[in-house]
Amino acid sequence: MPRVIIDDREIDVPEGFNMIQAAKLLGIEIPHFCYHPGLGVDGNCRLCFIEIDGVPKPQIACNTFARDGLRIRTDTEAVRDLRKAVLEFFFLNHPLDCPICDQSGECLLQDFYMRHGQYESRLDLPKVHKGKVVDVGPRVVLDAERCVLCTRCVRFCDKISGTGELRVINRGNHSEIGVLPGKPLDNPYSLNTVDLCPVGALTSKDFRFKCRVWFLTTTRSICAGCGRGCNIYLEHYEEEVQRYRPRENQAVNRWWMCDDGRLTYKVLNEGRCEAPLRRGEEVPGSDVLDEIAAILREAGAGEGALAVLSPEMSNESLYAAKSFFERFLPLGKVVAGSLEPPGPEDDLLRRSDPYPNRRGCEALGLWVDDLKPVLARGGKLAIFVQSDLIDHDPSVRAMALGFEKRIALATNLSETTAVADLVYPVTPHSECDGTFTNFAGRVQRFRRGMTPRGDALPVMEILRRVGASSGHDFGWVNLNAIWKEMARTVPGLAGLSPAAIGDQGIEMGPAGGLNAPGEGA
Ligand code: SF4
Ligand code: SF4
Repeated sequence: MPRVIIDDREIDVPEGFNMIQAAKLLGIEIPHFCYHPGLGVDGNCRLCFIEIDGVPKPQIACNTFARDGLRIRTDTEAVRDLRKAVLEFFFLNHPLDCPICDQSGECLLQDFYMRHGQYESRLDLPKVHKGKVVDVGPRVVLDAERCVLCTRCVRFCDKISGTGELRVINRGNHSEIGVLPGKPLDNPYSLNTVDLCPVGALTSKDFRFKCRVWFLTTTRSICAGCGRGCNIYLEHYEEEVQRYRPRENQAVNRWWMCDDGRLTYKVLNEGRCEAPLRRGEEVPGSDVLDEIAAILREAGAGEGALAVLSPEMSNESLYAAKSFFERFLPLGKVVAGSLEPPGPEDDLLRRSDPYPNRRGCEALGLWVDDLKPVLARGGKLAIFVQSDLIDHDPSVRAMALGFEKRIALATNLSETTAVADLVYPVTPHSECDGTFTNFAGRVQRFRRGMTPRGDALPVMEILRRVGASSGHDFGWVNLNAIWKEMARTVPGLAGLSPAAIGDQGIEMGPAGGLNAPGEGA
């Protein structure tokens, strides 16, 4: 690895790194707009100037690559003067409407100007005005006056989504971003342009004006929209999730996520099941748990009981449910499956499997491809855990009604909870800790970001309480306890621990064992 010296500090950096990336390793931020590691060097914003020993004039850091002995300075007077001059150009026609701009609080132009600004305007000519609130596509709005013409959005559509909708049109002062008539910005990844836009020029129709960003609390999580398991930041304010943003994971989603997945946060806010129910009427939670325990005691003695688990459940919930039902329904059947049709798939991220944890169901031997024959048998008792089967296939309503008793543990109200005698609310992945295993066998962790809605509890906790009321102690006092048990009893999870999973996940090997981070597909 080449060794470079940045502001008198030596560091070995990976081959091919430029000076923006190298400085970042030392915690030094070199201001820039146009460079992004996922889009490569463009060199158009001219903001990332540095001084290089032995080179007479300042150079741009994005196009200066690491080589042994390279010595640079990132904060000299000459560099600061250049940044100030460049930023003054950016502001010549800028509308200075920060107070009403949705990017305020996370705007790079605002941040850099506060550090390097020419605060007294020297402009005595009228500004060039451009389009505001321009509808460039179904999910994105453009404010052309705020644009710094970094072309990140254009290059994303050219190089990553491959759809090429955005262009720089006109010249000089009148240059602006735009779409061609009849060709809106409408690709399955269009909202990544909003993340990439360093200023308030491109904003999300879904998020704009909903919440000032400084009110948001950010949690590291996983998108549950398909089998890919894109790494995300889940951001909430009070009781509502406000948005998802992609979190870099080079092994899974690089810097991106799809638009459909990004908007799946809405199910965490809307239509939630928040209170225990007996035939649709709210009742105290302890009553429902006691009744579930009594039903299980009665049904557990014989055959004809079925527990249907879901690929929406975490590995920990699946494991807890499997252990629980094997203990309390020894003659019953425990399966996991889905009736939701496959979604779209492409070469970038999207997987046709619409669930985040089918691989976890498979690893525990629970998965069945066709649930209908299992449901059609009917019997004494059916328990649906995070399983909204009837919503996906109304024809199975009659099959569900073929069971004498029905219990649902659910995050959201659905057609399935509507036919249940007893319902207990469950926390979704925004309100509890856990892991999903993605399509490639990568076990990834999501963290609790929010207080559970109403009486919702993690599946593990509901089952632990039901078990306790029947005199059985499962010992699942927290996630660590269940991880220890899973690592001991599930052959493929022998090395599993929160430390091994880390922030970027860990991939299961072909034989079901765990690879070291970075190994595998
Ligand atoms: S709209 Fe945003 S991302 Fe696109 S060129 Fe302008 S500033 Fe850059
Ligand atoms: S590709 Fe899948 S996991 Fe990634 S954002 Fe889209 S729906 Fe979510």
